Amino acid sequence: MCGIFGYFGPKKNATDMVVEGLKKLEYRGYDSWGIAYKTSNDIIIHKQVGKIGEAQITFGELEDAEEQIAIGHSRWATHGGVTQENAHPHFSEDKDVVLAHNGIFENYVELKEELLKKGHTFTSETDSEVLVHLIEDEMKTSNFLEATKKALSYVEGRYATLIICKSENMIIASRRGSPLIIGTTKDNKEFFIASDIPAFLKYTNQVNYLDDNELVAIDNTGARFINLISGEEIKKRNVEIQWVEESAEKGDFKYFMLKEIMEQKETLYRALNQEKDLIEKVADAIKNAFGTYIIGCGTAGKVCMAAEYMFSTIAKKHVNTAFGSEFPNYHHFLTDRSLVIAVSQSGETADTLEALEIAKSKGAKIISIVNVETSTMARMSDIVLPIKAGPEKAVASTKATTSQLAILMLLAYAVADKLADGKSLLIDATAQINDMINPRYEEHIRKIAEVIKDTESMYIIGRASNYPIALECAIKLQEVSYIHAEGFAGGELKHGPIALISKGTPCIALIANDDTKKSMLSNAKEVQARGGLIIGIAPERDPVFDYWIRVPDVGNASPIVNIIPVQILAYHLALLRSNNPDMPRNLAKSVTVK
Ligand code: GLU
Repeated sequence: MCGIFGYFGPKKNATDMVVEGLKKLEYRGYDSWGIAYKTSNDIIIHKQVGKIGEAQITFGELEDAEEQIAIGHSRWATHGGVTQENAHPHFSEDKDVVLAHNGIFENYVELKEELLKKGHTFTSETDSEVLVHLIEDEMKTSNFLEATKKALSYVEGRYATLIICKSENMIIASRRGSPLIIGTTKDNKEFFIASDIPAFLKYTNQVNYLDDNELVAIDNTGARFINLISGEEIKKRNVEIQWVEESAEKGDFKYFMLKEIMEQKETLYRALNQEKDLIEKVADAIKNAFGTYIIGCGTAGKVCMAAEYMFSTIAKKHVNTAFGSEFPNYHHFLTDRSLVIAVSQSGETADTLEALEIAKSKGAKIISIVNVETSTMARMSDIVLPIKAGPEKAVASTKATTSQLAILMLLAYAVADKLADGKSLLIDATAQINDMINPRYEEHIRKIAEVIKDTESMYIIGRASNYPIALECAIKLQEVSYIHAEGFAGGELKHGPIALISKGTPCIALIANDDTKKSMLSNAKEVQARGGLIIGIAPERDPVFDYWIRVPDVGNASPIVNIIPVQILAYHLALLRSNNPDMPRNLAKSVTVK
C-alpha cells in the first residue's frame, strides 16, 4: 500500500517538503518511513520505524545546487517485518542507486536466488530490494535510465517506484498497477511525484497521470514519459485539477472517525444529489446487460452484497456480487455484453483493479462508484458515479460506506423505474439520520460500549439486506476495537455458530420493520436463551433486548441507518480499549497490493 513522494526542483528545503508530503500520504501505510536525498556527491538515507505523523524532525536546507532531489516512502509492510532495515528507501549494494517501492514484486524469490548466486548481499527481507540490485547489475553496461528499464522488465507484479542514483541528477518513476501522479509547476521547473494528488496540491494543480507500464524520467530537461512495453516516448498533456487544497481537518473532533460518522448527515445528501440522466444511463446499462456484476473489497464488498438484496427486493432484478479478489474466477462468464460495477472509496484497490482489467479484456462495460474521481478505477471506467463523500481519512470507512449504499439503492429504484420514489425515501431517511445522531445518542451508545468493552467475542446478526450489514458491522468492530466480532445471517446461527454463545456474549441484532422482523426477534430469543446479551438496533423496543438502540423506521433504507450506531459503538470501544480509531494496527486506508 504505502505512500511515496518525490521532489525534483530548485527548493533547498526539498527534504522537508518530502516529509510534509509523506505526512499527507500516511493513511496509505504507517509501519515505518524513510527519505533519501542527494548531496553533491552522495545520497543520504534516513529511515525509522513508526508513524511519520508522529515524527518531530526537520532536515533543514540542502546545499546550494540547481536541482534538489529527494524521495520518500511511508510503508505498509508486505514482505519482511516492521524494522528499520526493511523500511524504504533501499540502497543498491554499491550505494549508487536508491529505491522506494509501493506494491509487491511477485517473482522476487526467483530473482533474489539469481542475485544471491551472483554474489549479491541483501540488507532487508523485502521483495523490493531485488529491483535496486537488478538496476545495479544492469548499470555495469548501461546508463541509469536504460538499466532501470531493463531491470523493470524482469519484475512481475504490481508496483509504483521512485528511483534515484548518485551519478545522475534524475528521478525515475514507474508504474504498473499502483497509483503515481506527477505534478509540474507552471514554469516546468519543479516536479512532484506522489501516490495521491493532495500530497502536492499545495504547490501545483497541474498533473499528469502515469499509466500502467509507463516510466517517467525527470531531469533538468523536463519530464520524459516512456512506454515500458514498446520503449517509445509518449507525449502527455498536463491536466489542470480543479481541487482546492484538502480541507480535511478534525475540527472539534478528536478523531477523524467520529467526525466522518457525524458527517453522514450531509454526505448522504451529496451522494443522492446525482444527475438524473447519469443515474438513468447506469440503470439502462444494468437493464440491457447480459449479466451485471457488482464488485468491491472489504467494506465495499459488503456494500455490494447488500446491493444484491436491494436489486432483488426493489427492482426484482438479479445481480451478481463478488469480492474483487474472487472475481477473476468468474471470467468464464464474461462477454462484451457483461456489465461490471466496481465499488471503492479510493478507486485504487488493487484486487478490484485487477478484476476490472480482466473484465476489460473480455470487452465488458465498466462503471465505477468511487469517492476519488481522478482515481485509476474512475479513469478506466466507461461511466463514473462519484459518491461525493469528501476526503475520508479514518482507515475504517464510515461515510463512504453509507454513500455507496445510498447510490446503489438509488440505482435499484431507477432500474425499477421508480427513481423519484427511491430518492424521496432516501432523502427522508437522511433527514431522520440528521435527527438521530446527536450527542445524547452517542452517549447512550458509549454507555453500552462501557458494558461490553472487555468481551473477547461478539456477534452481529441480520436478515436480508441487513445480513451483509451484519458482516460490515463485524468488520468495523474488528478494525478499530480488535474484538473478535463476526456477522451471521439471523437464520444461520442455529446451524452452528450458536455453539459460540455463552453467558454474557454480546450479540447485536439488526432489525428492520419488515417481514424479517419476527424471525429476527426469534433469532435474538434463541441467542438470549443461551445466555447471550442482546443489543437490539431497531425502530421499536422489544422485550428481548437487554439494550435498545433506536433507529428510525425508514423502510428499504434500513441498512443505511442500522450501520451508523455500530460505527459509533466501534469508535467508543476503540477509545475504551486505548486504540487509535483513525489508524488501526496492521491496516492502511488504500489497499494497493493484492
Ligand atoms: N512490498 C514492499 C515491502 O513490504 C512495499 C510495501 C508497500 O507498498 O508499502 O516493503
